[in-house]
Amino acid sequence: MNNKLNKIGILTSGGDAPGMNAAIRAITRTAIYNGLEVVGIQEGYNGLLRGEYEILDARSVGDILQKGGTYLRTARCEEFKKPHVVLSAVEQARKIGLDGLIVIGGDGSFRGARDLTRAGLPTVAIPGTIDNDISCSEYTIGLDTCLNTVKECIDKLRDTSMSHNRCSVVEVMGHGAGYIAIYASIACGADCVLIPEIPFSISEDVIEKIKEGHKKGKKHCIVIVSEQLLDPAELAKTIQAETGMETRATILGHIQRGGIPTMRDRVIASQMGAKAVELLLEGKSNRVVRMKKGEISDIDIEEGLAMKKELPKDLIDLANMLSI
Ligand code: ADP
Repeated sequence: MNNKLNKIGILTSGGDAPGMNAAIRAITRTAIYNGLEVVGIQEGYNGLLRGEYEILDARSVGDILQKGGTYLRTARCEEFKKPHVVLSAVEQARKIGLDGLIVIGGDGSFRGARDLTRAGLPTVAIPGTIDNDISCSEYTIGLDTCLNTVKECIDKLRDTSMSHNRCSVVEVMGHGAGYIAIYASIACGADCVLIPEIPFSISEDVIEKIKEGHKKGKKHCIVIVSEQLLDPAELAKTIQAETGMETRATILGHIQRGGIPTMRDRVIASQMGAKAVELLLEGKSNRVVRMKKGEISDIDIEEGLAMKKELPKDLIDLANMLSI
């Protein structure tokens, strides 16, 4: 064990994701098990700047494992992009007595973690975001719970679309990353899926496909769209006008962020939390805990941020093939 490490902090930053609580619990208990003191910083980098924290013991993190959201609450802190603000955060961390920090969040939060390390506070990051849009990791905490919520919602929409011979346009989360849309498309049987990674034409990839499906005997259909690609209500109007099929649009929205974390999210969050503490104990910092080939490992934050993630082509092909 690195003798210099006595007290560590944890914070959650950016968008919340189910499973963050399992990570907070695992970090706290792994650290205490290894003789460290643990501090929970509230509301992301904002709380660090304001010196808002609580001492966490093994009992403080009891009964949070099964809850969605984040016990520490989260926030966005735009001014954290300014170097002098990062320096004052390091100053606050010194006042709290922190020797290290673990940040759970997305790639914006990782940039903050990198800046903190550079400014003298050893920091390790954990990918927590429902979108799975972290290039260096195959998995991000929250994806599985989100997908299960999406599955439940689309199954319900399918019931009513089927009963009324309607078309249902469903917008799911995943700004700039089509993981949620493509998995939902495979698991919920979408007829068309529009994602940011693949250029599309409404007339060919939606209207023609729906018309073809109709000829093949499909009486209702589901179109899944990743957020911010287009206006789902406008798309619904176009589909109705062009195909004659009654069409409704549903934006699943923030409902996808909440809920009881699934088994997969709890286990992976616990593994990632424990790994982050181990890294700090080994004297390592500026690392991202990640999943690679199904195993938990770590990578330099800068290297991780520079990577590009591609949605596996076989998933896209599968979604298309199964929609015939
Ligand atoms: P996420 O971490 O989920 O990607 P954001 O992009 O909103 O979410 O980032 C969360 C927080 O991380 C921001 O509010 C800010 O405090 C910090 N952050 C984002 N980008 C940077 C950056 N370039 N440099 C330093 N800190 C950043």
